Amino acid sequence: MPDLLLRGLHHSATACILLLLTACAEVPAQPLTAAPLKATTAPASPAPSTVSTPAPLLSFAEWRTLLRSDAIAAGIDADLFDRTFAGITLDPRVVTSDSSQPEFTRPVWEYIDGAVSVSRIAQGRLLKAQHRPTLKAIRSAYAVDHEVLIAIWGMESNYGSNIGSHNVIRSLATLAFDGRRQVFWRSQLLAALQILQAGDGPEQGLIGSWAGAMGQTQFMPTTFNQHAVDFDGDGRRDLWRSTPDALASAAHYLQASGWENGQPWGFEVNLPAGFDYALADPEVRRTLSQWRTLGVNPLAAVDATEQSLATLFLPAGHRGPAFLLLNNFRTILRYNNSTAYALAIGLLSDALDGKSGVQAAWPRSDRQLGRSERIELQELLTSKGYEPGPADGIIGANTRRAVRALQQSLGLPADGYPSHQLLQQLR
Ligand code: CA
Repeated sequence: MPDLLLRGLHHSATACILLLLTACAEVPAQPLTAAPLKATTAPASPAPSTVSTPAPLLSFAEWRTLLRSDAIAAGIDADLFDRTFAGITLDPRVVTSDSSQPEFTRPVWEYIDGAVSVSRIAQGRLLKAQHRPTLKAIRSAYAVDHEVLIAIWGMESNYGSNIGSHNVIRSLATLAFDGRRQVFWRSQLLAALQILQAGDGPEQGLIGSWAGAMGQTQFMPTTFNQHAVDFDGDGRRDLWRSTPDALASAAHYLQASGWENGQPWGFEVNLPAGFDYALADPEVRRTLSQWRTLGVNPLAAVDATEQSLATLFLPAGHRGPAFLLLNNFRTILRYNNSTAYALAIGLLSDALDGKSGVQAAWPRSDRQLGRSERIELQELLTSKGYEPGPADGIIGANTRRAVRALQQSLGLPADGYPSHQLLQQLR
């Protein structure tokens, strides 16, 4: 679920790139940066810190004893806690995954290519047809379109085929004991214990991603407790083995996040010559008719009212495709706070609905800035008085704003996109 992943955080996380980051629903959103590959639910990561985590003051056994008291105080049965934690040790693979900060991430077009592949579209269309009665029942209950649910299912777990193989209790205990954001992980761990106590987990225990995302829709434990539903009526919320439960839970979550049934997530647009790219800013919201007045027109017929508010999105800068984003895009971001993820979900949904893909060419010859170059860019911007925020290698709103200001001062298209060319000029 809904939550995020970033930097490799999640189950598969192989993440991608520089545009956006992903985050989890419960985690504070992060601005633009990398997208997860399979995203979802993994917790979002905090901005990578240059400060390493201090050595724990307690041993794992001492920490577990304190956790046990807290869990019991929160209503967890002592026997359940003891059974669950019997033999649980720290998982060094999880620590490694949590602390990795890859130098190179994939450009957004490579991420989209992988996420919205021909085979994923074909399989999704078959599954949409196969599960039509379930999808109709879900739409009646939660007012969420079929395609977005199939798209989420495809992105989160490749339609249920990749739900992770980590012991979620062990992963979360490791992160809560030794990770960055220990408060977040501890709350996820307590939520996982509640899931066990409710009897919803599989007999073999909670299985998921290294970051604790579970089931076919990769819900984090707190998301599970809030939004998972038993849709097949067997009395358990089984996101691991029940596709109806998984799809309905995703629908329930999207509904709670403001999904507007039948409305598009957004659509590709043409921009007129001489367009002011500074309008491609998440803070700039206009109605579709106002965008039209500015010469921003959809490439295909769009079924949305002219009064719908939209923001303009240039995922690869002014040389790549442009999209207007509507409310449903923001709803997808609640599931996983990565614009690349949300764009992939939107494009996959369109493909499942028989619509064509992105028409404009991506700037595939662009060389992406690596992490150390992004940090250098931020340092150079700071030294020139542009205030991009901390030099953490994450291209968030502040950095984009600083890049835009620099571009404007240089007379360049002010798309806020941190290109290699711009870095060269700064040097
Ligand atoms: Ca069930």
